[in-house]
Amino acid sequence: MDAHTLTPPEKTLLTHQLLNGAYKRLTLDSRRSPMHELISTMLSHRTTHADEEKAYHTMLERFGDWEGVLNADPGELADAIKTTRYPGQKAPQIQQTLRIIKEEQGEISIDFLKDMPEDEAMAWLTRLPGVGLKTATLLLLFNFKKPLLPVDTHVFRVSQRVGLIGAKVTANKAHNLLLQMLPKDAVELFNFHKHLFWHGQRVCTFFSPKCEACVLRGICNYFHDVREKGIDQAA
Ligand code: SF4
Repeated sequence: MDAHTLTPPEKTLLTHQLLNGAYKRLTLDSRRSPMHELISTMLSHRTTHADEEKAYHTMLERFGDWEGVLNADPGELADAIKTTRYPGQKAPQIQQTLRIIKEEQGEISIDFLKDMPEDEAMAWLTRLPGVGLKTATLLLLFNFKKPLLPVDTHVFRVSQRVGLIGAKVTANKAHNLLLQMLPKDAVELFNFHKHLFWHGQRVCTFFSPKCEACVLRGICNYFHDVREKGIDQAA
């Protein structure tokens, strides 16, 4: 099979099948509450998972609940989340987000998103400070089982190398392009996201991808055009 004989939709479905065979299939169960997911995802920007968790728990231990976080001194809030990158930017963004939710909903809860169509829920979430497409899609898929696809750095890199999306496509555009080529089913999209995420972490790493151990190499543009021809042995 030549990497270039398949169309992007064919290649996307084949990638999904091959990774389903290589990695464990998952059920879609929310790991944390919607507010927890929203604020943790804001904290996680350029931060390790361990440091994000530490900041989240320190913040709630210090200020008690979301009302306490909303009314905290901004400098003290930045101090509570100082294990994350850019705490001085994240603290006012978190307070502004909590303020908007409270003003619009009368309480600090985003459970109402469950009953909102996904395009309206996406529009509502991406108006919040510090909430981009990745955060919004992740929250709506993980917490409310909406059929959306979060594209993080691993999903994006693997998709580009294999050739599911073009080399010039941005991460923001990749959200919709990939989504259109996949089944509109939350469990399938969740598995596609997690499998590409794991594959990018473990096999198709940023430096020195382990192509010889990769189940996608038969359909991968990067392997076909670069690795197999020995053009970039150091990549
Ligand atoms: S063959 Fe190499 S570049 Fe292609 S997906 Fe696999 S590890 Fe990544």
